[in-house]
Amino acid sequence: MLGEGILKGMAETAKNFAGSFVSEDRLTTVEYPEQRIPTFENARVFPFLVYDGSDWAAGMRCVACQICEKECPPKCIYIEKSQDKKPDFVGKPQFYPARFDIDVSVCMSCQICVEVCPFEAIKMDTEFELATDNRFGGLLLDREELAKSNEYYHRIHPTEADEVDARLNSEKAAAEAKAKAAAQAAAAKSADAAKPSPAKPAPSTGGED
Ligand code: SF4
Ligand code: SF4
Repeated sequence: MLGEGILKGMAETAKNFAGSFVSEDRLTTVEYPEQRIPTFENARVFPFLVYDGSDWAAGMRCVACQICEKECPPKCIYIEKSQDKKPDFVGKPQFYPARFDIDVSVCMSCQICVEVCPFEAIKMDTEFELATDNRFGGLLLDREELAKSNEYYHRIHPTEADEVDARLNSEKAAAEAKAKAAAQAAAAKSADAAKPSPAKPAPSTGGED
């Protein structure tokens, strides 16, 4: 019958509307901002930069490789690489972002930046209350505004953050084992070099007969 689908849809809506007065299960809306529904663990809004420890500048995982900047579809990430280097989480000297901005008024929350980052440095935030009356630059977030601790990451995405920590810890353990083996090999080599060379046999005089 022509229009049957529309009538069925309207009947469902009417049932839910009337039911919402008697059943809490059918009342799916809340009176925001006084009431809020809990954020889902896999919710994603805009990206943030993860740092380890208590100092965001020292602990930032980002090494300014610029892969996310290249892959971002609407090109809303702006990075400037540092001139100097600082140690990363395994102690390897790495560049860091002297500038890292994201224009969240352009970001489309696709998460591609997160997927392409080889350093677990950028993740999706669940914070959505970012409205501002500053039309010019108010939504251009700089690296300090984007930096959030690993503890915060664990609070909003606990399952994913646990997996990331386990992976980084095993990479760190492997790097430490490799460095220890290299140090032991170098020590053994220098100990060998320091050993006195064996005494040469005395030359024969030829007058024994
Ligand atoms: S979520 Fe997508 S659009 Fe937003 S910064 Fe990352 S790659 Fe760009
Ligand atoms: S966030 Fe990741 S992909 Fe982007 S520049 Fe930093 S390390 Fe590279």
